[in-house]
Amino acid sequence: MQLTDKQLLKTQNYINGEWRDAAGRIDVRDPASGELLAEIADGTAADAQEAVVAAAAAFPTWKSKTASERAAVLKRWHQLILDNIDDLALILTLEQGKPLAEARGEILYGASYIEWYAEECRRAYGQTIPTHNPAMRLQTIRQPVGVVACITPWNFPNAMITRKAAPALAAGCTVVIKPASETPLSAMALCELATRAGLPAGTINMVVGSDAPALGQVLTQHPQVAKFTFTGSTAVGKILMAQCASGVKKMSMELGGNAPFIVFDDADLDTAVSACVATKFRNAGQTCVSTNRIYVHESVHDAFVEKLHAAVAEMKVGHGCDEGVTVGPLIHRRAAERVAQLVSETAGAGAKVEFGGDFLPEGENYFAPTVITGVSDEMRIAREEIFGPLAPVQKFTDEDDVIRRANDTPYGLAAYVMSENIRRANRVVEALEYGMVACNAGVFSTTVAPFGGSKESGIGREGGVEGMAEFYETKYCCFGA
Ligand code: ADP
Repeated sequence: MQLTDKQLLKTQNYINGEWRDAAGRIDVRDPASGELLAEIADGTAADAQEAVVAAAAAFPTWKSKTASERAAVLKRWHQLILDNIDDLALILTLEQGKPLAEARGEILYGASYIEWYAEECRRAYGQTIPTHNPAMRLQTIRQPVGVVACITPWNFPNAMITRKAAPALAAGCTVVIKPASETPLSAMALCELATRAGLPAGTINMVVGSDAPALGQVLTQHPQVAKFTFTGSTAVGKILMAQCASGVKKMSMELGGNAPFIVFDDADLDTAVSACVATKFRNAGQTCVSTNRIYVHESVHDAFVEKLHAAVAEMKVGHGCDEGVTVGPLIHRRAAERVAQLVSETAGAGAKVEFGGDFLPEGENYFAPTVITGVSDEMRIAREEIFGPLAPVQKFTDEDDVIRRANDTPYGLAAYVMSENIRRANRVVEALEYGMVACNAGVFSTTVAPFGGSKESGIGREGGVEGMAEFYETKYCCFGA
């Protein structure tokens, strides 16, 4: 790996300010080429426990700092990330597969949480409450919850960490992070830069291991963990929620989605296609807000499909480090095979593959960007999260009917509406049962706005003032006469 700063490539767990080895090893491979990038320490439940104990020991000192003292450290961390963006993006692309330009975008997006929460923590205002009794004075103060445990996925190896760790640290909490074992190198590089920025030992800890359930048990059930925050699949989220229940841990869950993308007959089709491509094929379709079901009004269906087809045909698939590549590989062979199975099942049920539909010769994890028409709501492709570069198109005729179909899912993360009619846009945006709705846009996530889902897509929000509130306890203080 050609890094400018070779010290950013770490291979150990980070506990109490020290890089720690482990008996076992995990291979980290480039999903594009299969090349071995690093052998990292395989952390155990005992390591996770040590990390929690270290975070608990660091908490009293960190929380006692003033907001501006914490902000100063976080701002240094933010700056160091920007200073090292080329190395961080390279690490990210090599372990995750996304094109370098997307990796850079993720680093900037991830860093923006650190800067924003460094600023926001100065505004942790409480209230003075008009009293119910003249002999009493009532106040609220906001205090950091304590040790925060985070489990993060491989699709955004940088930003899913900063989106949790930045508000937690800014609020005065200390953190233990368990990244996905597919993409630990970005997490390790973040810890290295956090240390250089001056985050005290124990404030930020990272443990990665092949036995995720064993680490998860510790992070959800250790008595010294105050809050658990997870991004990943709904299936795993449900297991972790159940584990959190025994200790009544506070928790936030960012889980799966089944995003509808609705194109009305009054949409600007070029806008709709470029939004569709952005939400569908970014990260090869491996994002929780990726479009999963495309509903197009029957009167513009053929024109939309033609434009989508043309846009997809222009995509360049390849290694994320190669010039001009817009779509990389899937994370592993299992993911590519799952996508292939979905395509053959969907085609077998009568849908038509308009473009793509197969593995690619670039490597075993590559699958072609694919457009499928004639899909129906009963098909598995319309009910399950695809997590791959498949764009399944359905027709609709009636606004109320398409809203009903769009809402007919246990998921409620993101939805997209394409319409130039402001009254319709307002109506439909309000009627969709989703945590986030984008109108005439495909990429909407930003530091300053709350990200999160309803129904089985999650609990809590990340980003914006809501994302900070997750890491405070509001204490009511009553002073008698
Ligand atoms: P994905 O499909 O994106 O891999 P997962 O929900 O399987 O989503 O994984 C997200 C994160 O959850 C990863 O860090 C993974 O290691 C972790 N994980 C998976 N299963 C468990 C589990 N049973 N307990 C704790 N963590 C888990």
